[in-house]
Amino acid sequence: MIEFKLPEYDLVWNRDYSLTGNQFSVNTLDGRIKLKYERKAMKKYFNGTWKFGTAKLVHKFQKWFLHIPVTKDFSELDYTDVNNIVGIDLGINFLATAYDSQGKTTFYNGKIVKHKRGKFKVTRKQLQKKQTPSARKKLKQIGSRENRYVTDVNHQVTKALVEKYRRGTMFVLEDLTGIRSATEKVRVKNRYVSVSWAFYQFRQLLEYKAQLNGQKVIVVDPKYTSQTCPKCGHVEKANRNKELHLFKCKNCQYESNDDRVGAMNLHRKGIEHIGVVTAGV
Ligand SMILES: [Zn+2]
Repeated sequence: MIEFKLPEYDLVWNRDYSLTGNQFSVNTLDGRIKLKYERKAMKKYFNGTWKFGTAKLVHKFQKWFLHIPVTKDFSELDYTDVNNIVGIDLGINFLATAYDSQGKTTFYNGKIVKHKRGKFKVTRKQLQKKQTPSARKKLKQIGSRENRYVTDVNHQVTKALVEKYRRGTMFVLEDLTGIRSATEKVRVKNRYVSVSWAFYQFRQLLEYKAQLNGQKVIVVDPKYTSQTCPKCGHVEKANRNKELHLFKCKNCQYESNDDRVGAMNLHRKGIEHIGVVTAGV
């Protein structure tokens, strides 16, 4: 049993406590105590790039908890060090479509998400009709369950993206903040799906993970990304057939999946962006 004077105690790194890959060591009124701890989740903090701060020892629920703040310095990836550009088109059918500097396309399927969100919506409608307190309570639960599900998918896809592409990669996303507010809905095959917050969250997660990985994210003007032919540059609304998910250029007949074309155009906008910001460097 370890006893401290206060239920909360500040422990200064390397003076009051230390942590190695194997053990936690702490000064107490009875001298120094060395303890084993669950190492698995902590492993990544021992690669020499993280700093441990002043920890808080807290007594709660008849147990002692140690809160350890860790910090790490990141240098932002410089535009001149970018060695790969990946355009990412976000959508409903394919949650994310990526097009890289090698001309390779990767689709991250969103159909499961779309289906599951549709199902959530049906249940929500039924509950809304009921108007009882228990129905209202259930409604709330469904809302947060749905949000958790989307958050989980966003975590998975952004993780897959930063792991797939090397350090020095610059991801290019559409800046959707201007055109889709938090409440606006997008019409998808006779029903409306609110996608804006999910897209915004996707961007935030990708930015955060990319930075940890020596990569970066930029957002560009979404204008004409779905209507421009990536081969000849011809811009026409009729180039894209939303129903068939098909892009077919009215000028040069180039044909491809419409989400893929969106990603290709974002890739090109990324190259243009680099050209502008590094001009004169
Ligand atoms: Zn064309």
